[in-house]
Amino acid sequence: MGTVKKSSKLVRESVITQSNPDLSDNMKQSNDKNSRYCTRCTRALKACLCDYIVPVDNHTPLYILQHPNEVAHPKGTAALLAASLQQCEIHVGEDFSRDEWLSGLLADPSRRCYLLWPDEDAISLTDLRQQRESESSDSAAVAFILLDGTWRKAYRMLQSNPALAHLPRIGIGAIAGQYAIRKKPFPDALSTIEAGYHLLSRWEGRPEHYAPLLTLFNRLNTQWQDFAEGRRA
Ligand SMILES: [Zn+2]
Repeated sequence: MGTVKKSSKLVRESVITQSNPDLSDNMKQSNDKNSRYCTRCTRALKACLCDYIVPVDNHTPLYILQHPNEVAHPKGTAALLAASLQQCEIHVGEDFSRDEWLSGLLADPSRRCYLLWPDEDAISLTDLRQQRESESSDSAAVAFILLDGTWRKAYRMLQSNPALAHLPRIGIGAIAGQYAIRKKPFPDALSTIEAGYHLLSRWEGRPEHYAPLLTLFNRLNTQWQDFAEGRRA
């Protein structure tokens, strides 16, 4: 179990690894008595969603590169996604070009990394499946990389990291996001947890298995709407 470092000085090196989600109650406590934030779901303690986190065993690992601005964003969903998935890491930073974990991952012959980046160069998951079937000699396992930030910040992260920019890109098509609580740059923009849900459930072809991610996301939306309507003081 990794740790979430709150100090902005340490944020650059912080890594959250959720390989073994621990649902015990003590995980909800902050390691800093003065902190009002849960170290696991990163939400305010009074809005902690850990009770609603259901472990989901994903076959395809997901690596989230998170812009530092997103770490403490109260409406971010990457931490909830990572706390749910058994194979998910969050790495915080802007410039990963000298990060050994990333160069190691990209150079690993047993992995083939794809970046979720829905531009005109992106191929669909269906195309990716066909591509891999036609290259049956390629036994490397698929891994997905997702950038967590506003579009502008994510674009800058991509520009600062040529190795990421050169990765093959995948898109998940137009999906109407359900994120009612955060301003969306355009109607199809998805929250990170929704993107993770659609990406993994479609790639692995098992939407029911990943349903707890959407349940958790709906819980978050309900909570925010309740706050907004003053039902919780
Ligand atoms: Zn929590």
